[in-house]
Amino acid sequence: AIEPYDDENIFAKILRGEIPSSKVYEDDWAYAFSDINPQAKLHVLVIPKGRYVSWDDFSANASAEEIAGFVRAVGTVARSHGLVEPGYRLLANVGAHGGQEVPHLHVHLFGGEPLGPMLA
Ligand code: 5GP
Repeated sequence: AIEPYDDENIFAKILRGEIPSSKVYEDDWAYAFSDINPQAKLHVLVIPKGRYVSWDDFSANASAEEIAGFVRAVGTVARSHGLVEPGYRLLANVGAHGGQEVPHLHVHLFGGEPLGPMLA
């Protein structure tokens, strides 16, 4: 990664259990929890367990096993919340222009209601 990973970022602390979070899913590759400031009826953050700053870092540097495990976990979370038939939205903000606030890769999962246009 170009950017070094900061072990004191808030999601690293959540992964280590140093800060509480409301867990919705966990496996060997991923941890999912409710966003503290939900932007939809359902707003879950899914993060890889590995130390990756962003989608860019992860896609460039994670192993095929980690990537597959994480991608599958995102789908599992959506499926387990019954979101497949009504539909849902995934979003990953990257860097300054993307508005990324926390430097540990996270995929936002939005659902539970019609979401409207993406850049409203
Ligand atoms: P970003 O802008 O980096 O894509 O999104 C960061 C997200 O993390 C925001 O939606 C914000 O509400 C959420 N968030 C920030 N701090 C915490 C926290 O301590 N706990 C939880 N559950 N979510 C957080």
